[in-house]
Amino acid sequence: MQEEQNERAQDTDKKPIVQKAIGFPCLQCGNQMSFSPERGQLYCSYCKTEKEIPDKEIEAAEYMYFPEDEHFEAPVWENEPGQVLTCPSCGADTVLGAAAMTATCPFCSSHYVTEAPADKAVISPETMIPFRISEAAAGNSFTEWVKKQWLAPRKFKKEAKKPEMKGIYIPFWTFDASLTTNYRGFGGKRRIEHYTVRVNGKTQTRTRTRTDWYPIGGQMHLDFDNIPCPATKKIDRALLDKLGGYSLKVLNVYNPAYLAGFLAERYSIGISDGFDIVRKTMELRMANHIQSSLHYDTYRGMQYNHHYEAVKFKHILLPLWLAAYSFHGKVYQFMVNGETGRSAGRAPLSALKIALLIGGGILAAGLLLFLLMSLGQ
Ligand SMILES: [Zn+2]
Ligand SMILES: [Zn+2]
Repeated sequence: MQEEQNERAQDTDKKPIVQKAIGFPCLQCGNQMSFSPERGQLYCSYCKTEKEIPDKEIEAAEYMYFPEDEHFEAPVWENEPGQVLTCPSCGADTVLGAAAMTATCPFCSSHYVTEAPADKAVISPETMIPFRISEAAAGNSFTEWVKKQWLAPRKFKKEAKKPEMKGIYIPFWTFDASLTTNYRGFGGKRRIEHYTVRVNGKTQTRTRTRTDWYPIGGQMHLDFDNIPCPATKKIDRALLDKLGGYSLKVLNVYNPAYLAGFLAERYSIGISDGFDIVRKTMELRMANHIQSSLHYDTYRGMQYNHHYEAVKFKHILLPLWLAAYSFHGKVYQFMVNGETGRSAGRAPLSALKIALLIGGGILAAGLLLFLLMSLGQ
């Protein structure tokens, strides 16, 4: 089994994989089927027919990446003409899954989406987590969230009642790497020193902390597995971090059937920029590992020389329900983790409500603050 997997992985290394975004017509009625998160399979909303998605039981291919010259080889994500939209307002490239439609940019709600130029090649995703949270569930958490936005303007709360939640697969990179680090510097050991002083003709004993410094140096090795990095600039990163992450150990092999009825973003952070982000995480972990295994109390003048080997990457898609709404010319996002259902969002703040809150009910003070805040805007 293992050998077979290896052979297949090598096979895919040699030939470019063409992943055509074909439609999924219903065998009963001919309408387009969509992926149903509740059922975990394709579903025809016209005649209620279900169709299983065959899970390919192969390990997803990983591709080599050479950080020195930023070289890599990986299959291209082939999309049909007209299947990728580009947004002149925020720059997002959105892939429409079969049966998916959108007239606005899902990231900034701009109405001016156009077809992306055909010559822009991007790496194909290898693995993904299909949606497990339904659109209805995501919509409910939005409604609940809006109710709790006490400080949002009333107009916003009214308009936000019927959100358009869009199911989007967000691109991520994950990296494996073998890191060898040569280090040198000084390790410090603290000790308590007793000393005497004379106060008013009397001798007193006092203590102080001294640090003795010792030169240190050596080599440490660490292997990293599946360190993730979002490959998108279009998502509010602070909100994304609040969603609690995804279970990256159980990934499905990429299958366009999971995209049926959904959207996907083509990455806006390329592989070399992605690796630069991830290497900072790895190098920080390495420094912590070195310092904690040397048992000094403190360190100074540490120098690290990092050497990477066997860097491999995967391009994966993770599910996210997103509502992007503009209010007074500013874009706010609300999002739900499409795997776990955890949500996070941003709402505009009402200057008046804040003023009243601070004013503590004293109308004059509140109005004054309101005026000041309005002038400041
Ligand atoms: Zn049907
Ligand atoms: Zn946009």
